[in-house]
Amino acid sequence: MITSAVRTLATELTGDDLPAYVYDLPALRAHARAVRDALPPGLELYYAAKANPAPPVLRTLAPHVTGYEVASGGEVEHVRAAVPGAPLAFGGPGKTEGELRRALTLGVERFHVESEQELRLLAGVAEDAGIDAVDVLLRVNVPLASDELGGAALAMGGRPSPFGLDPEAVQRCLPLLSGAGSRGPLRLRGIHAHLASGLDAPAQLTVAAAIADWARKLSERHGLDELTEVNVGGGMGVDYAHPDRRFDWAAYGKGMADLALRHPGRTLRIEPGRALTVYCGWYVTEVLDIKHSGGEAFAVLRGGTHHIRTPATKQHDQPFQVLPMDTTATWTRPWARPAVREEPVTLVGQLCTPKDVLARRVQVPELRAGDRVAFAMAGAYAWNISHHDFLMHPRPGFHYLDT
Ligand SMILES: *Cc1c(COP(=O)(O)O)cnc(C)c1O
Repeated sequence: MITSAVRTLATELTGDDLPAYVYDLPALRAHARAVRDALPPGLELYYAAKANPAPPVLRTLAPHVTGYEVASGGEVEHVRAAVPGAPLAFGGPGKTEGELRRALTLGVERFHVESEQELRLLAGVAEDAGIDAVDVLLRVNVPLASDELGGAALAMGGRPSPFGLDPEAVQRCLPLLSGAGSRGPLRLRGIHAHLASGLDAPAQLTVAAAIADWARKLSERHGLDELTEVNVGGGMGVDYAHPDRRFDWAAYGKGMADLALRHPGRTLRIEPGRALTVYCGWYVTEVLDIKHSGGEAFAVLRGGTHHIRTPATKQHDQPFQVLPMDTTATWTRPWARPAVREEPVTLVGQLCTPKDVLARRVQVPELRAGDRVAFAMAGAYAWNISHHDFLMHPRPGFHYLDT
Protein backbone atom coordinates (compact mmCIF):
# COMPACT_ATOMS: atom_id res chain seq x y z
CA MET A 1 0.00 0.00 0.00
CA ILE A 2 2.68 2.49 1.00
CA THR A 3 5.06 2.94 -1.93
CA SER A 4 8.79 2.60 -1.44
CA ALA A 5 9.34 6.28 -2.24
CA VAL A 6 6.98 7.34 0.55
CA ARG A 7 8.48 4.78 2.94
CA THR A 8 12.04 5.89 2.19
CA LEU A 9 11.28 9.54 2.79
CA ALA A 10 9.24 8.73 5.90
CA THR A 11 12.18 6.93 7.48
CA GLU A 12 14.90 9.30 6.26
CA LEU A 13 13.37 12.49 7.62
CA THR A 14 14.77 13.43 11.03
CA GLY A 15 12.52 13.70 14.06
CA ASP A 16 12.58 17.49 13.82
CA ASP A 17 11.39 17.24 10.19
CA LEU A 18 8.29 15.44 11.46
CA PRO A 19 5.37 15.40 11.33
CA ALA A 20 5.23 15.63 7.55
CA TYR A 21 2.61 15.31 4.88
CA VAL A 22 3.90 13.20 2.03
CA TYR A 23 1.91 13.21 -1.20
CA ASP A 24 2.42 10.42 -3.71
CA LEU A 25 1.76 12.20 -7.01
CA PRO A 26 2.45 9.17 -9.26
CA ALA A 27 -0.17 7.25 -7.24
CA LEU A 28 -2.59 10.16 -7.62
CA ARG A 29 -1.94 10.29 -11.36
CA ALA A 30 -2.51 6.54 -11.78
CA HIS A 31 -5.71 6.65 -9.71
CA ALA A 32 -7.12 9.66 -11.58
CA ARG A 33 -6.33 8.02 -14.91
CA ALA A 34 -8.07 4.80 -13.83
CA VAL A 35 -11.14 6.74 -12.68
CA ARG A 36 -11.27 8.70 -15.95
CA ASP A 37 -10.85 5.51 -18.01
CA ALA A 38 -13.72 3.84 -16.15
CA LEU A 39 -16.13 6.66 -17.02
CA PRO A 40 -17.95 7.04 -20.33
CA PRO A 41 -16.12 9.50 -22.62
CA GLY A 42 -19.00 11.99 -22.69
CA LEU A 43 -19.24 12.26 -18.92
CA GLU A 44 -17.54 15.32 -17.48
CA LEU A 45 -15.37 14.85 -14.40
CA TYR A 46 -14.86 17.89 -12.18
CA TYR A 47 -12.71 17.77 -9.03
CA ALA A 48 -14.18 19.39 -5.90
CA ALA A 49 -11.18 21.48 -4.87
CA LYS A 50 -12.19 21.83 -1.24
CA ALA A 51 -11.12 18.21 -0.63
CA ASN A 52 -7.48 19.20 -1.17
CA PRO A 53 -6.59 22.40 -3.01
CA ALA A 54 -2.78 22.05 -2.85
CA PRO A 55 -1.46 23.32 -6.21
CA PRO A 56 0.64 20.19 -6.99
CA VAL A 57 -2.49 18.09 -6.43
CA LEU A 58 -4.63 20.34 -8.64
CA ARG A 59 -1.99 20.28 -11.38
CA THR A 60 -1.48 16.50 -11.24
CA LEU A 61 -5.22 16.04 -11.75
CA ALA A 62 -5.41 18.52 -14.64
CA PRO A 63 -4.90 16.10 -17.57
CA HIS A 64 -7.57 13.76 -16.16
CA VAL A 65 -10.39 16.14 -15.22
CA THR A 66 -12.67 18.39 -17.23
CA GLY A 67 -12.58 21.15 -14.64
CA TYR A 68 -12.81 22.06 -10.97
CA GLU A 69 -15.70 22.73 -8.61
CA VAL A 70 -14.89 25.68 -6.35
CA ALA A 71 -16.90 26.78 -3.34
CA SER A 72 -15.67 30.26 -2.36
CA GLY A 73 -14.11 33.38 -3.78
CA GLY A 74 -10.84 32.19 -2.28
CA GLU A 75 -11.03 28.91 -4.17
CA VAL A 76 -11.95 30.72 -7.38
CA GLU A 77 -8.77 32.85 -7.15
CA HIS A 78 -6.60 29.98 -5.98
CA VAL A 79 -7.64 27.37 -8.56
CA ARG A 80 -7.61 29.91 -11.43
CA ALA A 81 -3.99 30.73 -10.56
CA ALA A 82 -2.90 27.11 -10.01
CA VAL A 83 -4.45 25.68 -13.20
CA PRO A 84 -5.03 28.63 -15.56
CA GLY A 85 -7.57 27.93 -18.27
CA ALA A 86 -9.29 25.02 -16.55
CA PRO A 87 -13.10 25.40 -16.46
CA LEU A 88 -14.48 26.34 -13.03
CA ALA A 89 -17.92 25.69 -11.58
CA PHE A 90 -18.60 28.02 -8.65
CA GLY A 91 -20.91 26.53 -6.00
CA GLY A 92 -21.48 26.95 -2.30
CA PRO A 93 -24.01 28.77 -0.14
CA GLY A 94 -23.84 32.45 0.78
CA LYS A 95 -21.88 33.81 -2.16
CA THR A 96 -21.33 37.54 -1.64
CA GLU A 97 -21.72 40.20 -4.31
CA GLY A 98 -17.99 40.76 -4.13
CA GLU A 99 -17.29 37.09 -4.78
CA LEU A 100 -19.76 36.98 -7.67
CA ARG A 101 -18.23 40.12 -9.23
CA ARG A 102 -14.71 38.71 -8.97
CA ALA A 103 -15.82 35.34 -10.37
CA LEU A 104 -17.41 37.07 -13.38
CA THR A 105 -14.25 39.11 -13.91
CA LEU A 106 -12.19 35.91 -13.85
CA GLY A 107 -14.56 34.35 -16.40
CA VAL A 108 -15.85 31.49 -14.23
CA GLU A 109 -17.59 29.13 -16.63
CA ARG A 110 -20.52 27.88 -14.53
CA PHE A 111 -22.39 29.26 -11.53
CA HIS A 112 -24.20 26.82 -9.27
CA VAL A 113 -26.89 29.06 -7.84
CA GLU A 114 -28.15 28.12 -4.39
CA SER A 115 -31.08 30.51 -3.80
CA GLU A 116 -33.50 32.90 -5.40
CA GLN A 117 -31.74 35.90 -3.88
CA GLU A 118 -28.39 34.67 -5.16
CA LEU A 119 -29.85 34.47 -8.66
CA ARG A 120 -31.01 38.09 -8.41
CA LEU A 121 -27.62 39.21 -7.07
CA LEU A 122 -25.81 37.43 -9.89
CA ALA A 123 -28.08 39.01 -12.52
CA GLY A 124 -27.49 42.45 -11.03
CA VAL A 125 -23.73 42.05 -10.78
CA ALA A 126 -23.56 40.75 -14.38
CA GLU A 127 -25.66 43.67 -15.67
CA ASP A 128 -23.48 46.20 -13.84
CA ALA A 129 -20.42 44.60 -15.41
CA GLY A 130 -21.96 44.65 -18.87
CA ILE A 131 -21.79 40.86 -19.15
CA ASP A 132 -24.70 39.57 -21.21
CA ALA A 133 -24.39 35.77 -20.92
CA VAL A 134 -23.80 33.93 -17.65
CA ASP A 135 -24.21 30.15 -17.54
CA VAL A 136 -26.19 28.97 -14.54
CA LEU A 137 -27.02 25.61 -13.03
CA LEU A 138 -29.67 25.69 -10.34
CA ARG A 139 -28.69 23.61 -7.33
CA VAL A 140 -31.76 21.64 -6.41
CA ASN A 141 -32.76 19.66 -3.37
CA VAL A 142 -34.09 16.91 -5.61
CA PRO A 143 -36.58 14.85 -3.63
CA LEU A 144 -35.53 11.24 -3.17
CA ALA A 145 -37.68 8.42 -1.88
CA SER A 146 -36.33 7.63 1.59
CA ASP A 147 -35.14 4.18 0.53
CA GLU A 148 -33.16 5.64 -2.39
CA LEU A 149 -30.48 7.06 -0.14
CA GLY A 150 -30.07 3.91 1.91
CA GLY A 151 -27.22 4.25 4.38
CA ALA A 152 -25.89 7.58 3.21
CA ALA A 153 -23.41 8.88 5.76
CA LEU A 154 -24.36 12.50 5.29
CA ALA A 155 -27.67 12.97 3.55
CA MET A 156 -28.12 16.46 2.13
CA GLY A 157 -31.05 16.14 -0.26
CA GLY A 158 -34.79 15.76 -0.07
CA ARG A 159 -34.90 17.02 3.50
CA PRO A 160 -34.67 20.49 5.06
CA SER A 161 -31.32 21.88 3.97
CA PRO A 162 -29.41 25.17 3.82
CA PHE A 163 -28.08 24.05 0.42
CA GLY A 164 -29.76 24.58 -2.91
CA LEU A 165 -33.36 25.23 -3.85
CA ASP A 166 -36.44 23.20 -3.07
CA PRO A 167 -38.48 22.30 -6.18
CA GLU A 168 -41.09 25.01 -5.46
CA ALA A 169 -38.34 27.62 -5.30
CA VAL A 170 -37.06 26.46 -8.69
CA GLN A 171 -40.43 27.42 -10.19
CA ARG A 172 -40.04 30.94 -8.83
CA CYS A 173 -36.52 31.22 -10.29
CA LEU A 174 -37.45 30.30 -13.86
CA PRO A 175 -38.78 33.75 -14.86
CA LEU A 176 -35.35 35.18 -14.00
CA LEU A 177 -33.60 32.93 -16.51
CA SER A 178 -33.39 33.25 -20.26
CA GLY A 179 -34.86 30.36 -22.16
CA ALA A 180 -37.60 30.55 -19.57
CA GLY A 181 -38.81 34.07 -20.32
CA SER A 182 -36.24 36.52 -19.00
CA ARG A 183 -34.22 38.80 -21.28
CA GLY A 184 -31.54 39.18 -18.62
CA PRO A 185 -27.99 37.85 -18.71
CA LEU A 186 -28.58 34.53 -16.93
CA ARG A 187 -28.92 31.38 -19.04
CA LEU A 188 -30.26 28.24 -17.42
CA ARG A 189 -27.84 25.57 -18.63
CA GLY A 190 -28.66 22.80 -16.22
CA ILE A 191 -29.44 21.32 -12.84
CA HIS A 192 -26.92 20.63 -10.11
CA ALA A 193 -27.42 18.43 -7.07
CA HIS A 194 -25.09 17.09 -4.40
CA LEU A 195 -27.39 15.11 -2.17
CA ALA A 196 -25.29 12.79 -0.06
CA SER A 197 -21.78 11.62 0.62
CA GLY A 198 -20.29 8.25 1.42
CA LEU A 199 -22.42 6.38 -1.13
CA ASP A 200 -21.30 3.21 -2.88
CA ALA A 201 -21.62 2.84 -6.67
CA PRO A 202 -25.17 1.35 -6.79
CA ALA A 203 -26.51 4.08 -4.46
CA GLN A 204 -24.73 6.79 -6.45
CA LEU A 205 -26.31 5.48 -9.65
CA THR A 206 -29.77 5.52 -8.08
CA VAL A 207 -29.28 9.11 -6.98
CA ALA A 208 -27.87 10.14 -10.38
CA ALA A 209 -30.88 8.63 -12.17
CA ALA A 210 -33.29 10.46 -9.84
CA ILE A 211 -31.55 13.80 -10.52
CA ALA A 212 -31.41 13.28 -14.31
CA ASP A 213 -35.09 12.29 -14.40
CA TRP A 214 -36.05 15.31 -12.34
CA ALA A 215 -34.09 17.59 -14.70
CA ARG A 216 -35.73 16.07 -17.76
CA LYS A 217 -39.23 16.55 -16.34
CA LEU A 218 -38.48 20.17 -15.46
CA SER A 219 -37.14 20.83 -18.92
CA GLU A 220 -40.10 19.14 -20.66
CA ARG A 221 -42.67 20.85 -18.47
CA HIS A 222 -41.29 24.32 -19.23
CA GLY A 223 -39.81 23.81 -22.72
CA LEU A 224 -36.27 24.58 -21.49
CA ASP A 225 -34.25 23.66 -24.57
CA GLU A 226 -31.02 25.12 -23.19
CA LEU A 227 -31.14 22.91 -20.10
CA THR A 228 -28.61 20.39 -21.37
CA GLU A 229 -26.40 19.78 -18.33
CA VAL A 230 -26.96 17.61 -15.29
CA ASN A 231 -24.37 17.71 -12.51
CA VAL A 232 -25.09 14.88 -10.07
CA GLY A 233 -22.50 15.96 -7.50
CA GLY A 234 -19.78 14.13 -5.60
CA GLY A 235 -19.81 12.05 -2.44
CA MET A 236 -18.39 8.82 -3.84
CA GLY A 237 -17.71 6.70 -0.79
CA VAL A 238 -14.33 5.80 0.65
CA ASP A 239 -13.83 3.22 3.41
CA TYR A 240 -11.37 4.30 6.10
CA ALA A 241 -11.65 0.91 7.80
CA HIS A 242 -10.63 -0.86 4.57
CA PRO A 243 -8.30 1.34 2.50
CA ASP A 244 -8.12 -1.34 -0.20
CA ARG A 245 -11.89 -1.43 -0.76
CA ARG A 246 -12.34 1.39 -3.20
CA PHE A 247 -15.39 2.87 -4.84
CA ASP A 248 -16.35 0.66 -7.78
CA TRP A 249 -15.62 3.08 -10.60
CA ALA A 250 -16.01 0.37 -13.25
CA ALA A 251 -19.60 -0.41 -12.19
CA TYR A 252 -20.34 3.28 -11.77
CA GLY A 253 -18.96 4.06 -15.23
CA LYS A 254 -21.13 1.37 -16.82
CA GLY A 255 -24.21 2.62 -15.02
CA MET A 256 -23.51 6.22 -16.02
CA ALA A 257 -23.08 5.13 -19.65
CA ASP A 258 -26.55 3.55 -19.48
CA LEU A 259 -27.95 6.67 -17.87
CA ALA A 260 -26.44 8.81 -20.65
CA LEU A 261 -28.19 6.62 -23.25
CA ARG A 262 -31.50 7.27 -21.52
CA HIS A 263 -30.84 11.05 -21.63
CA PRO A 264 -29.66 11.82 -25.16
CA GLY A 265 -28.62 15.41 -25.77
CA ARG A 266 -27.74 15.97 -22.13
CA THR A 267 -24.24 16.23 -20.67
CA LEU A 268 -23.77 14.39 -17.40
CA ARG A 269 -21.19 15.71 -14.96
CA ILE A 270 -19.83 14.54 -11.60
CA GLU A 271 -17.71 16.38 -9.04
CA PRO A 272 -16.04 14.03 -6.55
CA GLY A 273 -13.44 15.30 -4.10
CA ARG A 274 -12.53 12.79 -1.41
CA ALA A 275 -12.59 9.67 -3.60
CA LEU A 276 -10.07 11.22 -5.99
CA THR A 277 -7.40 12.50 -3.61
CA VAL A 278 -7.78 10.73 -0.27
CA TYR A 279 -5.43 7.85 -1.11
CA CYS A 280 -2.46 9.93 -2.30
CA GLY A 281 -1.66 11.58 1.04
CA TRP A 282 0.25 10.29 4.08
CA TYR A 283 0.71 11.97 7.44
CA VAL A 284 3.99 10.71 8.79
CA THR A 285 5.18 11.16 12.33
CA GLU A 286 7.10 9.48 15.14
CA VAL A 287 6.24 7.96 18.48
CA LEU A 288 7.46 10.26 21.26
CA ASP A 289 6.34 8.23 24.23
CA ILE A 290 4.51 5.09 25.21
CA LYS A 291 2.76 4.59 28.49
CA HIS A 292 0.04 2.67 30.25
CA SER A 293 -2.91 4.10 32.13
CA GLY A 294 -5.68 2.10 33.74
CA GLY A 295 -4.36 -0.99 32.01
CA GLU A 296 -4.49 0.54 28.52
CA ALA A 297 -1.57 1.43 26.27
CA PHE A 298 -1.18 4.91 24.80
CA ALA A 299 1.32 6.02 22.16
CA VAL A 300 1.92 9.77 22.16
CA LEU A 301 2.83 10.98 18.68
CA ARG A 302 4.52 14.14 17.50
CA GLY A 303 1.72 16.22 15.96
CA GLY A 304 -1.94 15.26 16.18
CA THR A 305 -5.45 16.17 15.12
CA HIS A 306 -4.53 19.87 14.75
CA HIS A 307 -2.75 18.63 11.59
CA ILE A 308 -5.12 15.84 10.62
CA ARG A 309 -8.55 16.49 12.01
CA THR A 310 -10.16 13.73 9.92
CA PRO A 311 -10.31 11.01 12.62
CA ALA A 312 -11.81 13.50 15.11
CA THR A 313 -14.47 14.81 12.71
CA LYS A 314 -15.40 11.41 11.33
CA GLN A 315 -14.93 9.57 14.63
CA HIS A 316 -12.95 6.79 13.02
CA ASP A 317 -9.54 5.16 13.39
CA GLN A 318 -7.26 6.69 10.82
CA PRO A 319 -5.59 3.72 9.08
CA PHE A 320 -1.82 3.61 9.60
CA GLN A 321 1.30 1.61 9.06
CA VAL A 322 4.10 1.28 11.58
CA LEU A 323 7.54 1.89 10.13
CA PRO A 324 9.94 0.31 12.66
CA MET A 325 13.13 2.29 13.28
CA ASP A 326 15.86 -0.15 14.17
CA THR A 327 19.07 1.77 13.68
CA THR A 328 21.13 2.12 16.82
CA ALA A 329 21.01 5.88 16.31
CA THR A 330 17.24 5.83 16.91
CA TRP A 331 17.59 5.01 20.58
CA THR A 332 20.60 6.53 22.30
CA ARG A 333 19.06 7.20 25.65
CA PRO A 334 20.44 5.35 28.67
CA TRP A 335 17.07 3.92 29.69
CA ALA A 336 14.90 1.18 28.23
CA ARG A 337 13.03 2.06 25.06
CA PRO A 338 9.30 2.39 25.88
CA ALA A 339 7.36 -0.16 23.85
CA VAL A 340 4.12 -2.14 23.52
CA ARG A 341 3.89 -5.61 22.01
CA GLU A 342 0.85 -7.59 20.89
CA GLU A 343 -1.64 -5.39 22.65
CA PRO A 344 -4.18 -2.76 21.66
CA VAL A 345 -2.80 0.77 21.70
CA THR A 346 -4.46 4.16 21.38
CA LEU A 347 -2.58 6.65 19.22
CA VAL A 348 -2.87 10.22 20.48
CA GLY A 349 -1.27 13.53 19.55
CA GLN A 350 0.32 16.35 21.53
CA LEU A 351 -2.80 18.38 22.21
CA CYS A 352 -4.09 18.92 25.73
CA THR A 353 -7.53 17.57 24.95
CA PRO A 354 -8.93 14.05 25.24
CA LYS A 355 -10.27 14.47 21.69
CA ASP A 356 -6.80 14.34 20.19
CA VAL A 357 -7.08 10.68 19.20
CA LEU A 358 -5.98 9.36 15.81
CA ALA A 359 -6.78 5.68 16.35
CA ARG A 360 -8.30 3.87 19.30
CA ARG A 361 -7.28 0.51 20.78
CA VAL A 362 -5.73 -0.81 17.60
CA GLN A 363 -3.81 -4.08 17.79
CA VAL A 364 -0.16 -3.75 16.74
CA PRO A 365 2.59 -6.38 16.78
CA GLU A 366 5.02 -3.86 18.23
CA LEU A 367 5.32 -0.12 18.65
CA ARG A 368 8.26 1.61 20.30
CA ALA A 369 9.28 5.17 21.06
CA GLY A 370 11.20 6.37 18.01
CA ASP A 371 9.23 4.25 15.53
CA ARG A 372 7.55 6.05 12.68
CA VAL A 373 3.83 5.91 11.98
CA ALA A 374 2.50 6.66 8.50
CA PHE A 375 -1.22 7.47 8.50
CA ALA A 376 -2.87 6.54 5.22
CA MET A 377 -5.84 8.17 3.48
CA ALA A 378 -4.62 11.63 4.45
CA GLY A 379 -4.94 13.19 0.99
CA ALA A 380 -8.43 14.71 1.40
CA TYR A 381 -10.15 16.73 4.14
CA ALA A 382 -7.04 16.35 6.28
CA TRP A 383 -4.55 19.24 6.61
CA ASN A 384 -6.89 21.84 5.08
CA ILE A 385 -9.79 21.18 7.50
CA SER A 386 -7.61 21.18 10.62
CA HIS A 387 -7.21 23.73 13.42
CA HIS A 388 -3.50 24.34 12.88
CA ASP A 389 -2.90 27.04 15.45
CA PHE A 390 -4.38 25.35 18.50
CA LEU A 391 -1.48 24.97 21.00
CA MET A 392 1.08 26.56 18.65
CA HIS A 393 3.01 23.44 17.76
CA PRO A 394 5.13 23.75 14.61
CA ARG A 395 3.48 23.06 11.28
CA PRO A 396 4.27 19.84 9.44
CA GLY A 397 6.58 19.67 6.44
CA PHE A 398 5.03 19.15 3.01
CA HIS A 399 6.60 16.86 0.43
CA TYR A 400 5.20 16.21 -3.03
CA LEU A 401 6.92 13.13 -4.38
CA ASP A 402 6.93 12.90 -8.14
CA THR A 403 9.43 10.38 -9.40
C1 LIG B 1 -17.98 18.84 -0.95
C2 LIG B 1 -18.72 18.81 -2.21
C3 LIG B 1 -18.38 17.91 -3.22
C4 LIG B 1 -17.34 16.84 -3.03
O1 LIG B 1 -17.75 15.90 -2.09
P1 LIG B 1 -16.86 14.60 -1.80
O2 LIG B 1 -17.58 13.91 -0.71
O3 LIG B 1 -15.52 15.08 -1.42
O4 LIG B 1 -16.82 13.82 -3.08
C5 LIG B 1 -19.03 18.01 -4.42
N1 LIG B 1 -20.01 18.94 -4.61
C6 LIG B 1 -20.39 19.81 -3.66
C7 LIG B 1 -21.45 20.78 -3.92
C8 LIG B 1 -19.76 19.77 -2.41
O5 LIG B 1 -20.15 20.60 -1.46
